[in-house]
Amino acid sequence: HAKRIEGLDKNVWVAFTALAADPSVVNLGQGFPDIPPPSYVKEALAKAASVDRMNQYTRGFVCLCGSQSAEFRVLKLPYHLNEYCIIMVFLFFHLCSVFIEKGHPSLVKALSQVYGKAYGRQIDPLKEILVTVGGYGSLFSAIQALVEEGDEVIIIEPFFDCYVPMVRMAGGKPVLIPLRLKSGKKTITSADWFLDPDELAGKFNSKTKAIIINTPNNPIGKVFTKDELQMIADLCIKHDTLCFSDEVYEWLVYRGHQHVKIATLPGMWDRTVTIGSAGKTFSVTGWKLGWSIGPEQLMKHLQTVMQNSLYTCPTPLQEAVAQGLLLNYELMDQPECYFTSLADELEGKRDRLADIVEEAGMTPVIPEGGYFMLVDVTALNQDLSHMDEDEAYDYKFVKWMIKEKKLAAIPVTAFVGEESTKDFEKYIRLCFIKQDSTLDAARSILKSWT
Ligand code: PMP
Ligand code: GLN
Repeated sequence: HAKRIEGLDKNVWVAFTALAADPSVVNLGQGFPDIPPPSYVKEALAKAASVDRMNQYTRGFVCLCGSQSAEFRVLKLPYHLNEYCIIMVFLFFHLCSVFIEKGHPSLVKALSQVYGKAYGRQIDPLKEILVTVGGYGSLFSAIQALVEEGDEVIIIEPFFDCYVPMVRMAGGKPVLIPLRLKSGKKTITSADWFLDPDELAGKFNSKTKAIIINTPNNPIGKVFTKDELQMIADLCIKHDTLCFSDEVYEWLVYRGHQHVKIATLPGMWDRTVTIGSAGKTFSVTGWKLGWSIGPEQLMKHLQTVMQNSLYTCPTPLQEAVAQGLLLNYELMDQPECYFTSLADELEGKRDRLADIVEEAGMTPVIPEGGYFMLVDVTALNQDLSHMDEDEAYDYKFVKWMIKEKKLAAIPVTAFVGEESTKDFEKYIRLCFIKQDSTLDAARSILKSWT
């Protein structure tokens, strides 16, 4: 195998999704909704697939290009005119490639409208947006394009697990910094976990290429405040680094909190790539469509990765997501807008799950955003000394819980480095974008725990 993938073979999703596959298991593990996506995106997909042209590579006028160049050949134009035509064809191909490689035209246009509002600035649909395969594809293309051999990339623990292997595959070195729990806190929310500004400043040096932030955060649900983001932004500017801002849960923010895009802080647009996901936006995780947004001078390098790896994304999916975005663009800031109504619905589910967990004697960390909740299982005092010594407590706990209690979760140490294992191994992560009946099934299991 290639050295770049050495030590990256273990993956929490591969391991725990297989364990939770048994239909008798109540699955609050891997993050995916069991509530239906909005009907209009499903209908838009069916409609898109019924149009023949939509089942081919986007974008339609590739064929047009081909036929035009053929016509030029037939015409046998005089030499100087032919030369002129070659330039025209060349330019036309160039224009096509801009459309093709960066995303389906109606999707990048819809994204530029929605995000134009969210950023409070014009987003160029052709130069400042790249559509890829999921948030994963967006993260991968950004890291591959911009992180060099030997570069350091700061990652905040707990982090969405793929950041570390992606930085390693690019030849970079992950530099981890944990969120710390405010001392003396008992009933806690994700806001009680904070970044120590001095500790963070100490992680920046001349090798630092970028910091990866994730707000709202997976797994802890922290929504970084404007002040916290400003502190991070100041360090990025001081040390002239990039920022990869994973905002796939951007719309899922609960009452009393606000999602702030770090790219909108002064001096940050030019150094930030922001990552979004259709899977999270429309509750269609299986669609695997995502996007990166940023300044042209960065995005053109992500495009180089895209055009030499995947080239383009599925046309009907892009068309359906475009329709969904346009519909909600018209409703933005109104309660019927899916971006808002899903967050409202999920807030009720968050509170329901928190009650269930508390009833069972465990302590939830109430998330300010996203659709996950950390739960401290210390109070259960579950003896797992009969299990594999080498594994962290949370790995053993979740494996035991799936087998003995038929309830699936995700161990939180999957989201931290080795040095932080001790601080996080008494936590498990539960997903609450689930039907109330699924949450109630979890309640029954937890009620009859002993
Ligand atoms: N970032 C975070 C924080 C996530 O939770 C996910 C969910 N898988 C992703 C990125 C990847 O998104 P997608 O499923 O669109 O690839
Ligand atoms: N983002 C989802 C989660 O955190 C799914 C990740 C995955 O399946 N790779 O659960």
